[in-house]
Amino acid sequence: MNNKKKKYKNNFISQIINNDFDEDQNLSLHTRFPPEPNGYLHIGHAKSICLNFELAKLYNGKCNLRFDDTNPLKENIKYINAIQEDIKWLGYKWNNNVHYSSDYFPKLYKYAKELIKKGLAYVDQLTKEQIREYRGSLKKPGKNSPYRDRTIQDNIKLFQKMKKGEFSEGEVCLRAKIDMQSSFMVMRDPVIYRIIFSEHHQTKNKWCIYPMYDFTHCLSDSIEGITHSLCTLEFQDNKSLYNWILKNTSVKKYPKQYEFSRLNLEFCVLSKRKLSILIKKKFVNGWNDPRIPTLSGLKRKGYTPASIKNFCENIGITKQNNLIEFSMLEYCIRKDLNKIAIRTMAVLEPIKIYLYNLDDNYEEKFIVPNHPSIPELGTHEIIFTKIIYIDRVDFQEKYNKKYKRLKLGGEVRLRYAYVIKAEKIEKDKYNNIVKIICFCDLNTLGKKTKNNKNPAVIHWISVNNTFPAEFRLYNHLFNIKNPEREKNFLSYINPKSLIIKNGFIEKTVIKIKNIFFQFERIGYFCIDEIDSIKDKLVFNRTVGLRELWNSKK
Ligand code: ATP
Ligand code: MG
Repeated sequence: MNNKKKKYKNNFISQIINNDFDEDQNLSLHTRFPPEPNGYLHIGHAKSICLNFELAKLYNGKCNLRFDDTNPLKENIKYINAIQEDIKWLGYKWNNNVHYSSDYFPKLYKYAKELIKKGLAYVDQLTKEQIREYRGSLKKPGKNSPYRDRTIQDNIKLFQKMKKGEFSEGEVCLRAKIDMQSSFMVMRDPVIYRIIFSEHHQTKNKWCIYPMYDFTHCLSDSIEGITHSLCTLEFQDNKSLYNWILKNTSVKKYPKQYEFSRLNLEFCVLSKRKLSILIKKKFVNGWNDPRIPTLSGLKRKGYTPASIKNFCENIGITKQNNLIEFSMLEYCIRKDLNKIAIRTMAVLEPIKIYLYNLDDNYEEKFIVPNHPSIPELGTHEIIFTKIIYIDRVDFQEKYNKKYKRLKLGGEVRLRYAYVIKAEKIEKDKYNNIVKIICFCDLNTLGKKTKNNKNPAVIHWISVNNTFPAEFRLYNHLFNIKNPEREKNFLSYINPKSLIIKNGFIEKTVIKIKNIFFQFERIGYFCIDEIDSIKDKLVFNRTVGLRELWNSKK
């Protein structure tokens, strides 16, 4: 068994499944991933997707994709398409066709009528506010609605009238008749059908009554033959309702619900509601902005499906709520990009170097590897000339002893090339350095300097080998670790979450068919395929080059 299988075999849910297999030799595992099509998928959803699909694979079972589409006011076909694309991108294939809870509206209506006929559901006429008030609280028991004891016949008639559109929105609703004193709030006569006059993306104008999530979910699971319905901990209390509905309707199959903890990730918000606020208020540029942890944002930032799946395996499945370090996600992408990124030089903030002892038309070519240890990734050519660019941060006029890069009177090695010494600088009228005049020691290719020194190495690009590039440097969107917990989370936005630099990459690498790059000494970047144009490439910084995440931490 490979490592990955072991990980999914070792969580508490697979222990449950193992026991179920021991008890029933004919069991065939069937899981599902049930998104509401009211936003894009994020890394938290990926945790649930990986769990459901990997368990199905591990036990030779099946995993359905089902859209939980019971609220036409918030749903949109664009989310349905984006969600499917993201799941495919992660590399998962769902069983058969895509399912929709709305496929089951006729069956759900029939089950609701069954409850009415058993005296277990009633049409209520309290207003939304009254329903809330009558429900009580954790400390205060609820009280019965005055409409709770209508006759079965009246309820059937009224429910039919609801279906026909003879009431207005909010005027009436259908409630399960359970127990207004229950210690589980969800069991205090939950609303199971409400009226919404709005076109639905699947059923169009066929229905004006819509089943509520809790009523729909368990019945949809049962209709699809789901054996293990895995959800996050906040549904723990809803389990009693889940089981109550299955018990009191004529379903043939009894799926079981198990809960695991949601993913919370440092410096991120994962609730779709909050993500939509960030988008609406233009703190970020849409659902695929690389600063938010949606799958499309992460993809655009340069995250690979393998890195995300690896992350989901590493965090494990438990019942403990905790905040996962962002560095763990970064560890996973570095590990993956280390194997596939093309190594090259880029200058983010160019400053010119004149090598005064070289001829004006001096040109030398070096062939350098695209990867330090994978020769199959090939090589590319770099050009060395009299005028080159280095990064502004690699030169300092005023420096301390610790500064190891280029300084006046100091030496530095140009990566793959020679040692140079800075002798003079030229400034513009604003006192900005525009030119550094250096001596190039042509006797240092692959060897130390005359006085046996080995100076620090910096990256560079010849003015004859540049291709314009915009570099988008991303930092955390929030400047606190747990913005999800804060009511006014917007006041913790990091104003420096995106810094743009305009510089160059080596012209000789743009031919290479790869979108992942490691700019030496800077970090991992990927080509932004949406905003890049013919004459200028846009690069998103995926992650810096910092030390690998320490898994023992
Ligand atoms: P959000 O709070 O972001 O709106 P949601 O739970 O309403 O999320 P759904 O589309 O209903 O979003 O989620 C589909 C599935 O993904 C559910 O089974 C849900 O439990 C799971 N899921 C959502 N967020 C997370 C998370 N942060 N960690 C793990 N699983 C999650
Ligand atoms: Mg939800």
